[in-house]
Amino acid sequence: MGDGMALDTTEVTDTELREQTTAFLREELPPGWMDAIDTGDEARYSELRRALDYRDWCRRLGESGYATPTWPAEYGAGLSLAPGQAKHVNEVLNHYKVPRPFNIIGIGMGGPTLITWGSEDQKRDLLRGLATNEEIWCQLFSEPGAGSDVAGLSTRAERDGDEWVLNGQKVWTTLAHIARWGMLLARTNADVPKHKGLSYFVLDMQAPGVEVRPLVQITGDAEFNEVFFDNVRVPDSMRVGPEGEGWRVAITTLMNERVSLSGAGSLAGDAVGGSPIDRLISRHQPVTDPLMRQRLMELYIEGRLIRFNNQRAGDKRKRGAEMGPEGSITKLMQAEYNQRLQKLAVDLEGVGGMAWEPTEATARPEGPLAYLGGMGEDRPAIARGFLRAQANTIEGGTSNVMRNILGERVLGLPKEPDNSRELAWKDIPRSA
Ligand SMILES: Cc1cc2nc3c(=O)[nH]c(=O)nc-3n(C[C@H](O)[C@H](O)[C@H](O)COP(=O)(O)OP(=O)(O)OC[C@H]3O[C@@H](n4cnc5c(N)ncnc54)[C@H](O)[C@@H]3O)c2cc1C
Repeated sequence: MGDGMALDTTEVTDTELREQTTAFLREELPPGWMDAIDTGDEARYSELRRALDYRDWCRRLGESGYATPTWPAEYGAGLSLAPGQAKHVNEVLNHYKVPRPFNIIGIGMGGPTLITWGSEDQKRDLLRGLATNEEIWCQLFSEPGAGSDVAGLSTRAERDGDEWVLNGQKVWTTLAHIARWGMLLARTNADVPKHKGLSYFVLDMQAPGVEVRPLVQITGDAEFNEVFFDNVRVPDSMRVGPEGEGWRVAITTLMNERVSLSGAGSLAGDAVGGSPIDRLISRHQPVTDPLMRQRLMELYIEGRLIRFNNQRAGDKRKRGAEMGPEGSITKLMQAEYNQRLQKLAVDLEGVGGMAWEPTEATARPEGPLAYLGGMGEDRPAIARGFLRAQANTIEGGTSNVMRNILGERVLGLPKEPDNSRELAWKDIPRSA
């Protein structure tokens, strides 16, 4: 990557940002890629896409800063752009269908948490590998006995000199089987109420005593895992934020998770390869059935509403305001919208939408989570999208929990009663 491509972000206008991003892509993407997009030559684009070395591309995109444009440039990944500026970069990348790192848990949640709470050493050592997709991250929060009520978790970390000794179990840990690092929430003090005795660590997933067992889901993939800890030693230098303040650090992760899952991220379906509704219409045109037309129209409107809400939340962040409950609104809307969308895609397909075999053609070159970005292009992928969407109203906090948050924080309804809130964690009744 030539030095000539370095981005000067001081007082740069939106138009200049777009021009600089376009110039960067012209220099870095394979010859013919951008022309294929500009002339609508899908066959040529697909050919170039298949030939692209995805791993090498992610490394170059990450190092350039364009994969994570809002991250501080001084840590070797990022362009130090404000969110409103980054939007222009992302729009150019989306327009040219630029492959992105599938490390979306790390980029969407781990990076922002480190930037907010991490030490200088942690930022220097970890941000670059995240952005370049070389080090995949996972989120070790949920446990068999603690999902919605994650603050009630039981995994223990006990201090031993400059280290912590970790014992317990996590579950539903997406990507743990290929992760290099995990964002871990563990109990470091059982004598205080549940929210107060937690600490947050970055865990080396290759450390002795970490065991990862994949779980197979309805799609046939094993995208998430059970993770067991047996006397795992974690250096105190990998603690993120103060001891006992893990809940506050976790809130940063969870707020960013909701934004990532709300359709606002750069992988949003609307952004990759055109709006999903446009794609459904062009696949099935002319859609003559009045009920199908009505469902298409309703989803079109719903999709626009989600976009407007995301835009509103983005504008608020741009003004420097703290993230509020907006992420919960769009997380809730996006999950239910996507389920209706994927169901419509299967219904429009007719009987063919039900019969599918995994084939070579449905392999995902972008890695395990790439399909989160949008809707499948062929029957197996459409059926798979429908099956995978069933998880949308559970992952990242269930829709019931999002409604509780909105009831309390937006509508001002009384807080849900929780008798365990003020008790020391060790005194909360629980099954063995
Ligand atoms: C595909 C997928 C990927 C995931 N990836 C990760 C990951 O990478 N890392 C991670 O840590 N976790 C992950 N999770 C876990 C996810 O965060 C939890 O499943 C979720 O928070 C719900 O917790 P639970 O499954 O324990 O259900 P529970 O909390 O036991 O909930 C069971 C039911 O009770 C309802 N309920 C619970 N509490 C309330 C309440 N107060 N008010 C009203 N209703 C309530 C819930 O809505 C739900 O219907 C993933 C889950 C899925 C499905």
